[in-house]
Amino acid sequence: MAEIKRVLVTGGAGFLGSHLCERLVSDGHDVICLDNFFTSQKTNLSHLLGKPNFELIRHDVICPIHLEVDEIYNLACPAAPGHYQFNPIKTIKTSVVGSINMLGMAKRCGAKILQASTSEIYGNPEVHPQPESYHGNVNTLGPRACYDEGKRAAETLFMDYHRMNKVNIRIVRIFNTYGPRMHPYDGRVVSNFIRQALTGQDITIFGDGSQTRSFCYRDDLIEGMIAMMNGPDDFVGPVNIGNPGEFTIRELAELVIEMTGSNVKLIEQPLPADDPTRRRPDITLAKQKLGWQPKVTLRDGLKATIDWFRSIDLSHYRPPTPNF
Ligand code: NAD
Ligand code: UDP
Repeated sequence: MAEIKRVLVTGGAGFLGSHLCERLVSDGHDVICLDNFFTSQKTNLSHLLGKPNFELIRHDVICPIHLEVDEIYNLACPAAPGHYQFNPIKTIKTSVVGSINMLGMAKRCGAKILQASTSEIYGNPEVHPQPESYHGNVNTLGPRACYDEGKRAAETLFMDYHRMNKVNIRIVRIFNTYGPRMHPYDGRVVSNFIRQALTGQDITIFGDGSQTRSFCYRDDLIEGMIAMMNGPDDFVGPVNIGNPGEFTIRELAELVIEMTGSNVKLIEQPLPADDPTRRRPDITLAKQKLGWQPKVTLRDGLKATIDWFRSIDLSHYRPPTPNF
């Protein structure tokens, strides 16, 4: 049997974090989930709460905490534009101060630590598809900067703790990921379109819908993240984890309408500031170094996601709690 580790997942109650906790618990590890529930709810974890190898701590990563662990997955951070722009100062503090606190813990315990970074590092990219060597094109002053620059600074902190203090780090750059347990009111494109189609509301296309994204199903993403954590110590990243299939937002809307059997219309709304015009991961490095590549097609992933949205009661979900 594989070695049992004490694993901390920050942001473990969220969309990706709850699936990661689930996977680590089922692999037999001793899992601690730390979350302040800013964009999530305990129901994401209710099936894990009684398990002897699972523990839940309500805590904000901005505040120091002492725990003894072998591995840390640092996911705590609001991820959807509506969530991270809700309180932008808090968002950048979460990435920067939260990373300092978690890196300090990793240094003290000798733990390995993985940062959930993002394709937003590349901003509105001038290089397409985006390889890890591209340094990006981020507007430091715009409404997305609290997230993008927070995540960029977090990557810098990870590399500096690695170089200065020999902390064993990993950095994954996650591209748009979707699936069951996304917050139905997070405003992200997949959750918005499915919720709108299922509730008979017109689908809101921002701009003319010609901007592109590459959508990764959450199971593929979790596999990639775990492969990176368990990968060779001389490959710390950053590594892109995403699905290279590229779709326009209009194509996504049409697919959701077809798959839900809905008869809603598409309506255009203004494009938000600094909205990237295209995005597609170059995953050559992940294939070479980790033997990882995504397996789930957009159609199959959307089917599972639509089925989940049909099964939930939307009145149980609230927008984020004010947290100034
Ligand atoms: P999510 O909002 O569902 O999860 C984030 C979790 O972090 C939530 O449970 C939230 O309550 C928690 N959190 C936020 N601020 C916190 C704080 N100060 N202290 C403690 N907990 C805090 O989002 P997600 O999609 O699951 O994203 C998880 C991570 O992956 C994030 O770091 C995000 O930046 C990164 N990521 C996600 C995507 C994606 O497409 N889903 C893409 C790129 C990067
Ligand atoms: N988008 C859209 N309608 C919506 C929500 C999003 O057209 O109701 C667009 C958005 O402008 C962006 C893309 O879909 O071009 C992806 O948006 P999302 O917020 O999911 O992720 P991000 O912009 O961070 O990649």
